[in-house]
Amino acid sequence: MPGSDQEAARPSGAGASDGLAALLLSRIRDVPDYPKPGIVFKDITPLLADGPAFAAAVQALADGSTGVTTVAGIEARGFILAAPVAYVLGAGFVPVRKGGKLPAATHAQSYELEYGEATIEVHTDAIAPGDRVLIVDDVLATGGTAAATAELVRRAGATVTGIAVLLEIEFLRGRAKLPNLDVRAVLAV
Ligand code: AMP
Repeated sequence: MPGSDQEAARPSGAGASDGLAALLLSRIRDVPDYPKPGIVFKDITPLLADGPAFAAAVQALADGSTGVTTVAGIEARGFILAAPVAYVLGAGFVPVRKGGKLPAATHAQSYELEYGEATIEVHTDAIAPGDRVLIVDDVLATGGTAAATAELVRRAGATVTGIAVLLEIEFLRGRAKLPNLDVRAVLAV
């Protein structure tokens, strides 16, 4: 999990207005050296615990998306944001889980981590050809997780309408792994 050496959070070039960005950033806690030395973990639990901030974050993630049939949330914090975004958009919610967690038949996609490899899965019957899928997660870091999720959606025959994240860690250049995709970050640091 990357995130080391990043600057202090500041409102910048992302989707939220300055006032909203300041509110949301004030509710995201930096936890240095978690889960291992050198990583600055972006902890969104204070934001989730603040009703107005949570509602504003969900609305900002949903803004600008039309014609979405399905919102895919990435385990685990992506679930918490994606489910209310799906509700706001009148879309279905589909969980994208780490390997071995889903009970029925799955599509699986492996991708590179900083060290080693990870696998994510989605149920084969969760996304159908013709579906229009918005991918939601809390943090965009190196982009590997979002890119693998987009690949799972394409393999199901569906279209990725966009990738919406609460916070983008810009120096990790995750967007470079997501060419030709509409990547929208509510906040950027
Ligand atoms: P990546 O594939 O590198 O873009 O990593 C994205 C996934 O890892 C997301 O599901 C995030 O929840 C998590 N993640 C990566 N880096 C961090 C970080 N510094 N703080 C919190 N979550 C992170």
